[in-house]
Amino acid sequence: METKNIIVAGSINIDLVYEVPHIVKEGETIHSTKHDLYFGGKGANQAVTAGQLGADVQFIGSVGADDHGIRAKENMERKGVKTEAISSKGVTGQAIIQLSDVGENSIVLFPGANFLVTPEQIQESEAAFETSDILLLQLEIPIEAVEKAAELAYANGVKIILNPAPACDIPDSLLQKVSILTPNETELELLTGISADSEDNLQKACSIMLAKGVQAVVVTLGSKGAFYMTSEESGFVTAEMAKAVDTTGAGDSFNGALAVALCHGDLLTDAITYASKVAAFVVTEMGAQPDIPAEFIR
Ligand code: ADP
Repeated sequence: METKNIIVAGSINIDLVYEVPHIVKEGETIHSTKHDLYFGGKGANQAVTAGQLGADVQFIGSVGADDHGIRAKENMERKGVKTEAISSKGVTGQAIIQLSDVGENSIVLFPGANFLVTPEQIQESEAAFETSDILLLQLEIPIEAVEKAAELAYANGVKIILNPAPACDIPDSLLQKVSILTPNETELELLTGISADSEDNLQKACSIMLAKGVQAVVVTLGSKGAFYMTSEESGFVTAEMAKAVDTTGAGDSFNGALAVALCHGDLLTDAITYASKVAAFVVTEMGAQPDIPAEFIR
């Protein structure tokens, strides 16, 4: 079986979760009753999904020159991701998450080293783009670095999946290079001003993105599944039934799996069905990077 090559250029975070009786108020100090550390960052989540599903994954990004950075890289290597193109500078990105007894959360996100990824660093990995099938991008590193990666991929005929998260203004010159744009409902609304609350509105919003130059849009709709649109077809793929315990990283695992299926040559609808199955498994486990069972490996 031929191994498929995926490049992920993106973010790596450590998620520090503190369980608290209530979300801390201004000026207040409270005791946390439980602390957990999870590996996160949209780029890393997507990469370890693809790595665990059997793809050859090369990551371009940055962690801090600190213990969190060492642990984050080790975790990625364990899950099948190549980390030679991850630089160490500054402080590792961290999400400081308060989780209250009633399930509310509040998050302080410190991007740290993720914001130190430069176009020059991406350029240093040019050779990897010559041998890859797919580039997977999100928006948690500087847009200039995202654009550089897209430029190199486009020049080498590498398909680009852009997960526009967190949503921000995306230059049309970047959208024109994108094969598949994968917003969730909120991101689609922020990009188009149209709420994804009916099939009609999904059609309208996706048409706007197609007109901007992306070849396909796949909107993830949580437990409702996904909606896709190309210039030829559109439709829904229902979600798999799952007993969700933690939906963090659902979209990330969906994107990682979508990339794996597409590099194996699956049709878009088949790739979405496969990605839905993987994401439905991920929501049944805690954390954004659970171990994925071997039955999903391609
Ligand atoms: P994000 O995490 O980016 O907000 P979504 O919540 O839209 O992404 O979820 C991405 C995909 O994960 C969905 O399209 C669906 O296939 C799957 N998924 C999410 N939540 C559930 C759930 N409760 N049950 C089954 N599948 C789910």
